Amino acid sequence: MNTDAVKLLQGRYCNSLTEYSRFVTREVAIGDVPMGGNNPIRIQSMTTTDTLDTIGTVEQSIRMVDAGCEYVRITAPSIKEAQNLAEIKKQLRLRGYNVPLVADIHFTPNAAEVAARIVEKVRVNPGNYADKKKFDQIDYTDLQYQGELERIYQKFAPLVKICKEYGTAMRIGTNHGSLSDRIMSRYGDTPQGMVESAMEFMRMCETLNFYNLVISMKSSNPQVMVQAYRLLVETMVAEGMNYPLHLGVTEAGDGEDGRIKSAVGIGTLLDDGLGDTVRVSLTEEPEAEAPVAIELVKRYSLRAKGESLKAKGNEAAEEKNLSPLTFNLSSAHSPYEYKKRHTYEANAFIGGHMVPRVVIDLSKSNLKDASILKDAGYLYSPLLDKYNMAEQSVDFVYLADALPSFVFPSNLKQLYNYKTWQKLADKTNCHPVFSLQEYIEATDRSSKLNLVRIQPADIDSDQFGSIPFDNSLVFVLETTALHGMADQRGFFFKLEELGLEIPVIVKRDYEFGAMDNDLEGPKVHEPNDLTTHNSQLTTKLQLYAATDLGALLVDGFGDGIWINAPELPASVITSTAFGILQATRSRISKTEYISCPSCGRTLFDLMVTTQMIRSRTSHLKGLKIGIMGCIVNGPGEMADADYGYVGSGTDKVTLYRGKEAVKKNISSANALDELINIIKDDGNWVEQEQA
Ligand code: SF4
Repeated sequence: MNTDAVKLLQGRYCNSLTEYSRFVTREVAIGDVPMGGNNPIRIQSMTTTDTLDTIGTVEQSIRMVDAGCEYVRITAPSIKEAQNLAEIKKQLRLRGYNVPLVADIHFTPNAAEVAARIVEKVRVNPGNYADKKKFDQIDYTDLQYQGELERIYQKFAPLVKICKEYGTAMRIGTNHGSLSDRIMSRYGDTPQGMVESAMEFMRMCETLNFYNLVISMKSSNPQVMVQAYRLLVETMVAEGMNYPLHLGVTEAGDGEDGRIKSAVGIGTLLDDGLGDTVRVSLTEEPEAEAPVAIELVKRYSLRAKGESLKAKGNEAAEEKNLSPLTFNLSSAHSPYEYKKRHTYEANAFIGGHMVPRVVIDLSKSNLKDASILKDAGYLYSPLLDKYNMAEQSVDFVYLADALPSFVFPSNLKQLYNYKTWQKLADKTNCHPVFSLQEYIEATDRSSKLNLVRIQPADIDSDQFGSIPFDNSLVFVLETTALHGMADQRGFFFKLEELGLEIPVIVKRDYEFGAMDNDLEGPKVHEPNDLTTHNSQLTTKLQLYAATDLGALLVDGFGDGIWINAPELPASVITSTAFGILQATRSRISKTEYISCPSCGRTLFDLMVTTQMIRSRTSHLKGLKIGIMGCIVNGPGEMADADYGYVGSGTDKVTLYRGKEAVKKNISSANALDELINIIKDDGNWVEQEQA
């Protein structure tokens, strides 16, 4: 890596926090599909078949490649499976598929050494390569620690030598949930521990003059995952390294949750300009993963082209001859730990220690029909003439200039454009939304809550200095920039520099029809099937909004979120907004499932089992339930789950409370009932009706 690049990044984790700039890594050869450097961000996934089932694995790999995978990873738990990779590769080549194969290794150096002679890349987990978790030593002296590293070097060096000889690449893939005892003893299960776990192996590779490396730092918690990758980049750069990054959130789950969680973690880093390959881990068929990864990555194809795009976000500033946003990194938040930005509480409505608020736009809905509030999480009972709230009931609805002809529930605040709000006879629960100019000139403001729309560049304007500040003021931060997250993030940095503690609702607008001619968004071709069309738009909204808003929330920015997507039903927007808050752990409104994507080790049908468990526990707000396919990696990888349902043999399940196995090898027929009994015994159960 050239020294200028090192200098540029020293003490930082990305090229720019306010403009899109991809961190250019070393190019690594992986078969015919190189990664890193100026290559496109690659897409990959992993098979779920038994590796000894050659035809099943070949056919699944083909489906994955046809769906867009550029590398296919296959588990090799023992020498037998590692050997069978040769047959799988042969069959794929015979069918005209040259896709590079990656062997996934845990615990078994001998399988890795076989696989490295066959496939294009091996993945090793530094937490369990030549290491078994014993938890029998909590403190290591420096000498003992060094002794451990030397022991590992002896086990690891032969694999590196084989990779060098055969031109095989290697991924050093750290998992938050499976760090070695050695690392845990010194760093705990922290992002720093994850980074050090990989760095130990990377340094060994460099000692052996082996540089064909790719690195990952996965966790099921997007916040931890983001912090670990950022810290990895800073650490690598400080040591003169720039290996490509494989991005992924592990055990993300399925459906909406899986997509949103993945986008929060992966999208945040892509926005930072980090990442050379993406794997989205869903508890779904593996061919369902590539389209999600492609959707996440394709947004950057236009941004990567550079200068003219960077300018788009600063048009307003340039027109007004203002300087674009700048920031002082030392005064900004630490990107390696979560700290919510300090704001005042605006008269008990928003900000301070309150969880982020959710705003949706109902101005185009039928405001003569009270049942429309169902989409905002309020169920109207005509019989009782009252509304029932749920965990996902929004806090504010924006009605613009439209007046409803029914009474709103008292917990639901209504937002009106300033001029309309002024004319309301009864302003109870109603609050104004101003433009910046309107607010400055207004003679009539709310004594409790005033929302003011603002663009990031406005903070440098003369107008900004004329804003009357008091505790009723809340900003609604909008952006028209292509690289909108960074544009909005720059605004938060500026507020911090100015010492302003005004709460901010982050607003993003998504009009996918309008994006059709914009390279940023995928093309929407008149599908015959409206359901498919809507489901594509829903997925797009989940991925885009989770990236744009999640990237700010993981850094503690934002006291509320407002997603505007006129083409989609309000119910989808509500659910997406709460999903993003859940994934960033800033507002918990439902049960969290940490379910593995399954692989050749899986001992039950993960998709069916996850749905079964979800059907009986989805009302347990705040509980984290791990559903893992095997006992070898499952307990480690379910990380911070409160309870675990882990396959431990054919038709056998082991149940966990935290990290402790409390019922071992019970029949899968009774396992869910037993899990519920454990939750009940712990006092964490509520009946569905009660919830
Ligand atoms: S936890 Fe799931 S994905 Fe991980 S090794 Fe086990 S079965 Fe495979």
